[in-house]
Amino acid sequence: MNQVSEIARRAAGAAPALAAMSVADRVALLDAIADALDGAADELVAVAGEETALPDARLRGELARTTAQLRKFGVVVAEGGYLEATIDHADPGDVPPRPELRRMLRPIGPVAVFAASNFPFAFSVAGGDTASALAAGCPVVVKTHPGHPRTSARTAELVAGALTAAGAPAGAFQTVAGFDEGLALVDAEQIEAVAFTGSLRGGRALLDRCTARAKPIPFYGELGSLNPVVVTPEADAARGAELAAGLAGSFQLGDGQFCTKPGLVLVPAGSALEAALPASVGTGAPRMLTETIATGFETGRDRAAAVPGVEVLAGGGSATAPTVLAADAATLLAHRELLEEVFGPVTVLVRYADPAARDAVLEALEGSLTMTLHAEPGEDVVGLAEAMASRAGRVLFGGWPTGVAVSWAQHHGGPWPATNTVFTSVGAMAVRRFLRPIAYQDAPASVLPPALRDDNPLGILRRIDGVLRLP
Ligand code: NAP
Repeated sequence: MNQVSEIARRAAGAAPALAAMSVADRVALLDAIADALDGAADELVAVAGEETALPDARLRGELARTTAQLRKFGVVVAEGGYLEATIDHADPGDVPPRPELRRMLRPIGPVAVFAASNFPFAFSVAGGDTASALAAGCPVVVKTHPGHPRTSARTAELVAGALTAAGAPAGAFQTVAGFDEGLALVDAEQIEAVAFTGSLRGGRALLDRCTARAKPIPFYGELGSLNPVVVTPEADAARGAELAAGLAGSFQLGDGQFCTKPGLVLVPAGSALEAALPASVGTGAPRMLTETIATGFETGRDRAAAVPGVEVLAGGGSATAPTVLAADAATLLAHRELLEEVFGPVTVLVRYADPAARDAVLEALEGSLTMTLHAEPGEDVVGLAEAMASRAGRVLFGGWPTGVAVSWAQHHGGPWPATNTVFTSVGAMAVRRFLRPIAYQDAPASVLPPALRDDNPLGILRRIDGVLRLP
């Protein structure tokens, strides 16, 4: 573990120089990583394919998403609004009298990133957590995932090489491997925040560990999510078969190994969706990303299927076969274990006889990353939309939740147990997790960072005396 301490020390050593880099230089770092990964795409995709059994097209798409994401964070850094630069001039007449205050966000310091198993590129070594932490100006130490060790090692080599060539300070990016090394990293006093994508159990353990440190640090966990879908009787009558095809595609995408997989679907009793769905369910037994995930899937699916009142509509029973289960609303409410996420290709149809039964299920749901509503134009869905918005980080009106765009307005988060935080882990605002506000009071101009100087040398959007000002 001495090695982890040394790595954490090196990361801390890099922090001041990384934070002080100019905007252009920080953007260049992100672009350099993206270029290096794009340049090695064939090699990376081949290794990841061997380790994960994910198909070539999926891996190529994921790598392209990963490098586009790095470049988009460069755009966020250059735009500068993420700094939330705010200037209040002194006002002795205010109640109470106001000194001059200048507030902005600054990098939090070294960040530990726990790579996910299910996206060997986009949520792994050079994924969203790493990209957003570097964009914020923070050194990164990645705890690699044992599900794709060679992909992780080669990616890390490319990232480190690109950063060095682009002028990043030594220690700006490093990795550790191994369970105990991950724990030592969380404990290292130089680490200022932890970002994690994985199981509720593992995330909870690490969250508690972050809190129990002599100096507690923030933990940003993306954990478990059911991603419920509601289909109204009108939508089912109008396009039940089409919805069945969409659901089949979404819950089996990536063999169900997505945090946004729709795991519970509220359908009217006797729905056309239910009648059509089994025909679109695959019959093979896919190889899952890791043995642990395969075992977890089979155990969770079989436990849900064994609940009295649950029917197996498709699959079930054999290894990792995609599975559709069905139950009525009363069964679900009597067996809350059906509300737990089962990671892998299974979804549960919950039949409701009337809106009251549907709403009782909605009331019982915990937080999710997403909730989706399928309704027809003209239906009054205001109440449903509010019930969903109170439980999810992203509410979809039509469509399916798998597929998470990387953009300014994205929110990939949600109430516990989806996450333990109010922040997003995908999209521009993911940088916010790794920034800490500071207010300068009556500071001399010589100490002010460029973002807060009167002449606005960065040319960024700022709020001045309460009014947003464009440069
Ligand atoms: P995981 O078991 O939670 O592991 C994720 C990372 O955390 C790994 O690096 C793991 O280290 C580490 N870890 C786990 N428990 C820990 C603990 N108690 N103390 C310290 N470190 C710990 O997740 P996974 O391996 O990716 O997949 C297992 C399950 O996670 C899946 O079945 C699924 O339920 C869930 N999952 C959820 C998402 C999501 O986006 N919400 C994504 C992927 C997986 P080691 O591997 O070295 O043990």
